[in-house]
Amino acid sequence: MKVGNVWAVGRNYVAHAEELNNPVPSAPIIFLKAGSCVTSGHKISWSTEAQDVHHEIELGFRFDQDLQISSMLLALDLTERTQQTKLKEASYPWTLAKSFVGACPVSQDIPIQSGLWSQPEFLNAEIQLTVNGTVRQQSPLSKMIFPPQMLAEWVKKRFPVLPGDLLLTGTPKGVGPLKSGDTLNGQLRGPQGTIWLRHEWNVQ
Ligand code: ZN
Repeated sequence: MKVGNVWAVGRNYVAHAEELNNPVPSAPIIFLKAGSCVTSGHKISWSTEAQDVHHEIELGFRFDQDLQISSMLLALDLTERTQQTKLKEASYPWTLAKSFVGACPVSQDIPIQSGLWSQPEFLNAEIQLTVNGTVRQQSPLSKMIFPPQMLAEWVKKRFPVLPGDLLLTGTPKGVGPLKSGDTLNGQLRGPQGTIWLRHEWNVQ
């Protein structure tokens, strides 16, 4: 299914908001990544204008024909951190830092049962990213400030969401820069370490 827009949320894990010295939000902070930023497969590359590109592993959902979120995936919300810091200071939009060519690598998606996100096995599931074998980001999904179902409803009420659009649910702490040659492994692990989602990326 073609991706139209990527609806993404900023600062949805308290520890990540704190690591970038941002206040914890009282309502979702939504920004857009163009659907044309989305790439599949294992290779990551980005436009040369983006210099200081940071990884942000995120759990993503896809809106289906009925605008329900019935599948999930791993996504990298790649962010040009130097630009983002400058844009934030100037109170400008983040587009330059968030929507560059190649800024949204994603895994395959897998179907989910409706209501899964309110069950303990989902809340206790852990999202993790390793870079060159070292764990950089790891958190249970229960640490999200705004849970996926609430985000999906919130976004649908305010924006022209279409089938195929993606919803990204924010990144846990541990974001950091990427360089050519890095190997990234994203995982979502359920109870007893069951692997629900796994994807490897290689930075070109
Ligand atoms: Zn993000």
